[in-house]
Amino acid sequence: MDSWKVLVVEITVFLLLVFFSAASVQAAGDETAPARDPKQAVDQAYTAKIQKYTTAPYFTSPLVNYLPASKNVPTPESVLGDVAGAPGVLPYAEDVYKYMRLLEKASPRVKVFSIGTTEEGREMIAVAISSPENLKNLEENRARLAKLADPRTIKLDDAEADKLVAQVVPVYYITGTIHSPETGAPTALMELAYRLAVDESPYIREIRDGTITLITPVVEVDGRDRMVDIYKWHLAHPKDFYPPLIYWGKYVAHDNNRDAMGVTLKLTENVLNTYVGWKAQVLHDLHESVPYLYDNTVGDGPYNAWVDPILTDEWQMIGARNVADMTKFGMPGVFTHGDFDTWSPGYLMFIAAMHNGISRLYETFGNGGADTQERTLDPEEYSRTWWRQNPPLPKVMWSQRDNNNYEQTGLLTSLHYFNENKRLFLKNFYLKAKRSVMKPSAEGPAAYVLPADEARPELQAELLRVLQKQAVEISRSKSAFTVALPVKKEKPKKDAKDKKESDKDKKPEPTSRDFPAGSYIVRMDQPYARIADALLDHQYWSPDDPQKTPYDDTGWTFGELFGVQVARVTDLKVLDVAMERVTDVHAPGGVKGDGTVYAINNTAEPALATLRYKLKDTGVEAAEEPFESGGKKFNRGSFVIRDANRADLDRAAAELGLQAVAMGIAPSVKTHPVRAARVAFVHTWLSTQTEGWWRLALDDLKIPYDYISTQAIAKIDDLNTRYDVILFPPVGFFSGTTAIINGMPTAWGNPLPWKNTPETPNLVGKNDSTDDMRPGLGWDGLAKLQAFVEKGGVLLTATDTSRFAMEAGLVTGVSTHASERMKIVGSVIGTRLVDGASPIAYGYDEKVPAYCDNGPIFSLSSIAGARGRRRLGNESHTRPTGRGTVDDPDFTVGRPGVEAPEEPTSEIWEAALVTDEQRRNGFRVIPPADRARVIFRYADQKDLLISGLVEGGNEIAQHPAVVDVPSGKGHVVLFSINPVYRGETRGTYSMVLNTILNFDSLDAGRKLAEK
Ligand SMILES: [Zn+2]
Repeated sequence: MDSWKVLVVEITVFLLLVFFSAASVQAAGDETAPARDPKQAVDQAYTAKIQKYTTAPYFTSPLVNYLPASKNVPTPESVLGDVAGAPGVLPYAEDVYKYMRLLEKASPRVKVFSIGTTEEGREMIAVAISSPENLKNLEENRARLAKLADPRTIKLDDAEADKLVAQVVPVYYITGTIHSPETGAPTALMELAYRLAVDESPYIREIRDGTITLITPVVEVDGRDRMVDIYKWHLAHPKDFYPPLIYWGKYVAHDNNRDAMGVTLKLTENVLNTYVGWKAQVLHDLHESVPYLYDNTVGDGPYNAWVDPILTDEWQMIGARNVADMTKFGMPGVFTHGDFDTWSPGYLMFIAAMHNGISRLYETFGNGGADTQERTLDPEEYSRTWWRQNPPLPKVMWSQRDNNNYEQTGLLTSLHYFNENKRLFLKNFYLKAKRSVMKPSAEGPAAYVLPADEARPELQAELLRVLQKQAVEISRSKSAFTVALPVKKEKPKKDAKDKKESDKDKKPEPTSRDFPAGSYIVRMDQPYARIADALLDHQYWSPDDPQKTPYDDTGWTFGELFGVQVARVTDLKVLDVAMERVTDVHAPGGVKGDGTVYAINNTAEPALATLRYKLKDTGVEAAEEPFESGGKKFNRGSFVIRDANRADLDRAAAELGLQAVAMGIAPSVKTHPVRAARVAFVHTWLSTQTEGWWRLALDDLKIPYDYISTQAIAKIDDLNTRYDVILFPPVGFFSGTTAIINGMPTAWGNPLPWKNTPETPNLVGKNDSTDDMRPGLGWDGLAKLQAFVEKGGVLLTATDTSRFAMEAGLVTGVSTHASERMKIVGSVIGTRLVDGASPIAYGYDEKVPAYCDNGPIFSLSSIAGARGRRRLGNESHTRPTGRGTVDDPDFTVGRPGVEAPEEPTSEIWEAALVTDEQRRNGFRVIPPADRARVIFRYADQKDLLISGLVEGGNEIAQHPAVVDVPSGKGHVVLFSINPVYRGETRGTYSMVLNTILNFDSLDAGRKLAEK
């Protein structure tokens, strides 16, 4: 266009704008109608296809039942070959990006940003759509938003904030397809981007001019490409069953949406950085599992305790309005209340809730692919309830286009409503940040302190680095300081006399606490204090809570699960301590002292295992008893290294945050070799969800392993020649002993291949492959596992695979009990050290917090084949009815009393003592050396709950939590807790790593029963 023509157009647009804004002033209070501009040119062919693929007239809306035409901007058809949501069409991420970049090229209203890569190296993008003016001023606008995001920059001045609120353009961030089998979002978002870029209806134009819409069309890029592969395979083999999507990302499947606390996955980190970097106001995450649109925004209680009530009000406003708007279009099945509680901050959308924005999540209805299919709902899904007045229909033909219509209509009405009320939401954005800065003097605490004298400095540094990933500021004190401790209020005792007696042996509560110089301080007067508070505080979920089905974990306290000290400080004086901001948190490490023998204290830091593998060719020993050298105390399990190259050791230790002490002579303490064991890591073809977190942890720690399936075990002739340790982490869904052995049904149906083929070039990646996912471990595989242990191998299992090991007969003397009322839903639970001499316990203290999700409940027996007694925590026995008081002996009339032999007693975590009667022809009595050795047990009932929900805890209290069972020449190590979970449980990783490193010395320090 010539420049004068541009000028004319610009003047016309300006006049039109004036006209429209005048009109909107006249019609004060009336929002622009969600309708097509009659003058808007329509792409007739595309529109006809939209109508063709929409299966019922009420599954669409006036916002998406046409496509605006554009002379120069390509429609999604240019890349897809058909319209968005067309049957049989599922684009790879690459195709989605290609289209977004075509849009960018054709329209000044679109800009594409690369936001990082995935574990497998695929790109993630964010697409910004707004007016050219807004896109031109992105940086200026971001600088203004940053002031609202950090009110300290404007000295918490509300008037200044109001000025900024009036000027800035807000950012609404939409994220698609984090859950790979939920396939509709990418095409919906391609078309949404097109509409926002070209539609000239006032309704869309207002969104475009008033708000920056930011879109990440594919969050789980690795999983998306696998899912498209599977779908292509399905299209090529239409009569066959298709393989279920067992891997999504490299590590985890559905749990990729539970990582917003630990931030261990790239996708979480990339979305978090984008959200925080853009200073966005909303994060709206798209899912597909509920008919037809469940706007999770309002959800159900209990709400996360750390969110600002301003946010929960915003949820109600936005959610209710969204339902109302879509109901007015006549679209059935749109609702916002449901069974989703917002307690856990682990969901991707919660990045916004924890960073002063607005979190939102849609569940639309998807077919897991692009086939149009008849779908039949359960009565509970189509019933009309108070919160779902226009419910979904019991049976419908459903297409991906229907799904795309719902997603786009929901998003467009949301964007419009948000834009209409953006000044309110921007002010709230500022207020939430301001109230976060004011936290110390408002609800508190003032700070969290991580003391400089921490016994696990590297784990401390890891915890601080998680907080830094969350954009939390960390400071370090320049000098020692003291804070006052809050005075705990005594509960009034019913009996005044009892009170006096109990007071006698009570120590006075400390009133202050000292912290050394160099302690880390997480100040709460910062804009993102909320996330630090939520991660570091304790959680309590009442057993009486009306919500009986927690949606996810109920407790997660990071200090507890990392095994490091975190002090919640309410004393405001802590903020006056001289301190400096720290950007690089690194635990001090390296070699100190003179001599050629080196010792590294064992405090159960996972980095020790990394060091052992790093120095693969260096001899490392573990001390079997504590020792002292040069005034320094070393715990059991401390490394003693005699032949290391000092420079290598110094470099490795410095990098890993470990402190090695050089000494002249080796300590005179019994040691055994610590070996870089050869590890097999076993997975099933049933589910790789839960083991993925174990893989991620081992990869992060650089512990090498062979990743093999249960199928592969049967095919390996002699497991012992290849491996020292077999890890069989939890299976998760579909587990159970018969499922692990039998796999999926093979008596019918076709093989389900998981391998790269012409239709599935992306399937395998760096994971495992098979011609048929269906067969399981098999009886041959089970025999191989048994032989492996018999011949001296170590098998490590946790939760459901521990149950498998017991039920399949791989161990003797340990059994599980079904719980009756127990409810421990992803909680932080107290465990106690029972046998500190076991190498599995090296470096641990008496009390170890651990992650537990309903057990299983272990019981021990010294009689082979007998079930351990089911015993309830802290039970007490009473005498039988008879003469005398409660402590008196009974009598029998007519003969002198006989003293009964003392009844043998044992602790709940121990096996009952073998009786003389059992020893008569006692071929079932397990010899002492073959009996299970309890390393950790669950705490007493009153100490069980640390964070989360515990109901009926007496069923598991005091029962074994980690057991080492000798079997033949080898060992099976059973975990009831899950020691490696979501990057959150780093304090218990070393229980697994200790087992690996000491695999051929697990009996060290063992004390045997006499008989
Ligand atoms: Zn989902």
